[in-house]
Amino acid sequence: MTGHRPPDPRSALTAHLPRPDRDSAPWWELLAGRRFAVQECDFCGMLRFPPRAFCAACRAEGAHWREVPPEGTVESWIVSRQPFVPGRRDRPIPSGNGRLAAVPGGLIYGNWRAERQPVPREPVAGVFAEVTPEVTLLDWAPAGDADGSGAGIPGRT
Ligand SMILES: [Zn+2]
Repeated sequence: MTGHRPPDPRSALTAHLPRPDRDSAPWWELLAGRRFAVQECDFCGMLRFPPRAFCAACRAEGAHWREVPPEGTVESWIVSRQPFVPGRRDRPIPSGNGRLAAVPGGLIYGNWRAERQPVPREPVAGVFAEVTPEVTLLDWAPAGDADGSGAGIPGRT
């Protein structure tokens, strides 16, 4: 029998990293380069998020990526008091959905980066959060907190 070893935080975190698929892989690559973009339909020009193969408006296949400001408003949020990722046990972590300013109906999930809870419909700005050299997430901070330093989620840069 071997002695108890604490879990390796990096391997546990890796288990929670996003797995890009056919439609989202380009988006994750752009995000890793600190660029925020959404799909724009090649046929009707509708902007859409999350990435998908077909346009919900005209059902055409084919889209390209258009950079837009990572801005929106708070739509909803939760506060996790049961951490699922090692290294995030020091306090409750709010996360939630933001309504994208550039995409009608576009919602995006992200961690909250402020010491206070979000306010419904308050303006927010995206903060690029590198998790690994290959994976960057987009966290959300109050719009006036340009550098996202308002909270600093543990383990994030
Ligand atoms: Zn379309």
